[in-house]
Amino acid sequence: MSDPAPIPATCFPCGQCGSSLRFVPGGGKLVCPHCGYENPIADSAEPVVEYDFHRALEKLPLTPHETAPPEIQCHACGARFRLGKFLHAGRCPFCGSPAVIAATLLRPIPPRSLLPFVIDQAAARQVFRKWLKRLWFAPSALKRFARQEGLLRGIYLPYWTFDSHTETRYTGARGIIYHEIRSVTVIENGRPVRRQQRVQKIRWQPVRGRVRRFFDDVLVGASHTFSRQILDRLGPWDLENLVPYDEKYLSGFDSEVYQTGLAQGFEQARLMMDRIIDQDIRFDIGGDLQQIHSKRTRHQRTTFKHCLLPVWIAAYRYQNRSYRVVINGRSGRVQGQRPYSLLKILTAVVAAVAVLAGTGYVLYKSDILREMQTQAGAYERYPELAK
Ligand SMILES: [Zn+2]
Ligand SMILES: [Zn+2]
Repeated sequence: MSDPAPIPATCFPCGQCGSSLRFVPGGGKLVCPHCGYENPIADSAEPVVEYDFHRALEKLPLTPHETAPPEIQCHACGARFRLGKFLHAGRCPFCGSPAVIAATLLRPIPPRSLLPFVIDQAAARQVFRKWLKRLWFAPSALKRFARQEGLLRGIYLPYWTFDSHTETRYTGARGIIYHEIRSVTVIENGRPVRRQQRVQKIRWQPVRGRVRRFFDDVLVGASHTFSRQILDRLGPWDLENLVPYDEKYLSGFDSEVYQTGLAQGFEQARLMMDRIIDQDIRFDIGGDLQQIHSKRTRHQRTTFKHCLLPVWIAAYRYQNRSYRVVINGRSGRVQGQRPYSLLKILTAVVAAVAVLAGTGYVLYKSDILREMQTQAGAYERYPELAK
């Protein structure tokens, strides 16, 4: 059996010189790096729509098959190569030309919308440098390193967003706090004495009820390249500005296909919605304290979107460990891993202890400490006797 023919990678040739055009962040246009020719991306009249979640699930193959990256052929130099695992857009390793293939070659559900990059590479590098400089307790060598870091990589990451109308029936209990006066025996001046004491109690009352909430655009990262914490903290994203998917926005950038499937994505979204529904239930129960014993949530008219969101990645090595920093390609918000300088932390701790010791001396000399001691003594005088 012969190898299948390579898939021709899509690229966008310059109308003037034939070189590959690249998407320029913030401008809404493709620009030729060779001759400067500009080609605006036409605004799509197509609205960004929501898709029915259950209908999409039914259509999906039961066993998702893991497809190997297909062999593709560079439009510019003719070389055959494969993009990295999970990538459907990147660059030709031989000539550097942008190469895009259809996401459907790797996954059954294609992205239908995206947020184009606004922050370009130069701006992202500035953000990264500032972030490095502002790190607390970072080794000084790292701050020097900020001047000589390598290239940043721009990548579109896959996300799911879910909308859902929820109705939750629950049972639980409402707790009301009240106080009782009871007499207790305490030891005073070495002798047992009866005293009146106020004791806090809770009266629980069974309750049941129903809460409703509509969730709009619950966002779940579908890439495993970064930890969920990093992806979640990169937000907020201006999802109201999503544009219909167009491969032109990918030209010159990497783009990933999803690794968290539609069903798993919804499970994640459901956990996020559950936390908010729990708050709604507690508010509905009222009283001073609440218990939730059981709850059943019905999701209706659940819809989803599959979109791509832009991030810049800076990877750096420091003392044989690699760290990754991710920058939101729309807002410039940074999340990243970082080293700490033990020496700086120790110095700060010693300084803090010195300050506290100084404060302690002042307190000792002042009335504040005496006042505090008197109060503590008051508590000591009335210990409740264990029965
Ligand atoms: Zn050109
Ligand atoms: Zn090439």
